[in-house]
Amino acid sequence: MADIAAFSDSYAEARRKFVEAARRAGAKLTSYKHPAQRGPGGEALYLDVAVLGPGDASRVFVVGSGTHGIEGYPGSAVQRAWLGGRPRLPKGTAVAFFHAQNPWGFAHKTRTTEENVDLNRNFADFSAPLPANAGYGELHPALAIRDWNEESISAAFAALDAYRERVGEKAFSDAFNGGQYTHPDGIFYGGARPQWANSAFRAAVETHLEKARSIAFIDLHTGIGPWCEHVYLCFHPEGSPARERARAWWGERAVNLQGVTHKSLATYSGTLIDAFAAMLPKAAVTSIVVEFGTLARREMQRAGLAQRWMRFEGPRDPVLAARVRREYEAAFYPADPQWRAAVLEQSRDFIDRGVAGISST
Ligand SMILES: [Zn+2]
Repeated sequence: MADIAAFSDSYAEARRKFVEAARRAGAKLTSYKHPAQRGPGGEALYLDVAVLGPGDASRVFVVGSGTHGIEGYPGSAVQRAWLGGRPRLPKGTAVAFFHAQNPWGFAHKTRTTEENVDLNRNFADFSAPLPANAGYGELHPALAIRDWNEESISAAFAALDAYRERVGEKAFSDAFNGGQYTHPDGIFYGGARPQWANSAFRAAVETHLEKARSIAFIDLHTGIGPWCEHVYLCFHPEGSPARERARAWWGERAVNLQGVTHKSLATYSGTLIDAFAAMLPKAAVTSIVVEFGTLARREMQRAGLAQRWMRFEGPRDPVLAARVRREYEAAFYPADPQWRAAVLEQSRDFIDRGVAGISST
């Protein structure tokens, strides 16, 4: 069984383990410090980038963790465990690990940034009109629960279900979680400006990947897919060379949404992996999201409502907020040792396949 000691209970612990593992593996570490925010224990917050292999490699395989803050706990363990496994790299290939892409959310154990922004909807063009999402405006009053109890939660779900019946699965997903730029106190809020985490990510990409000509990126997440399994979300268009590379490296399941528990995926606005590819026009980029499944779709939606309630209403009832928080954390970062071992075993395999894949390009 995999060594689940790679997992951590706090951001500070996760960062310490990651930095240690990177040093021991001989990786070069660069840290981007958040200039204004701290963790709950007063700790400084960083995006850390560890590069293993030649700094001027023409092929670089990138693995990112913590785009959605709390989802970085499993992602960090994946990175730390892989670095600790005495990795051998093919010639001309480097591996770069981006640790804690949203360190504020990671440290505070929530998906969003310090401004309640979903970093994975924040890579929008803020100089242009932002993507409209009229459906979200309709849903917001229903999901903005004031008093958290089973009755109010059921009422919220009744409204969500009625909306879905009326507009269909795809339009529902677009409205609910495609991203919205109108309700700062809502869910899947893309923000009114680029977050610090957005700028730090862009700076890191520019610094570490400018010379590479073949680049792959796995962005690690949790919350979509069956318990103890991982699923791939590939957004490269059908027939594109990038999509074919993903298929060649990870098999048909990399592109056919096998295991995805959403009935219909939203068309997402402002995602990090789309921005990643756009930043690297001179390289052949293969980017993919890997999600480790946790709970069923409805429970994850409930967690989304809980996240909003905790932030905007929770301070009025700290005892209840603590209970809701435990439920929320279990949805994105399960404690079950079997789940954690599965994450490490599966990720070792798909990272190794990706590294082998990119070295053949
Ligand atoms: Zn996520």
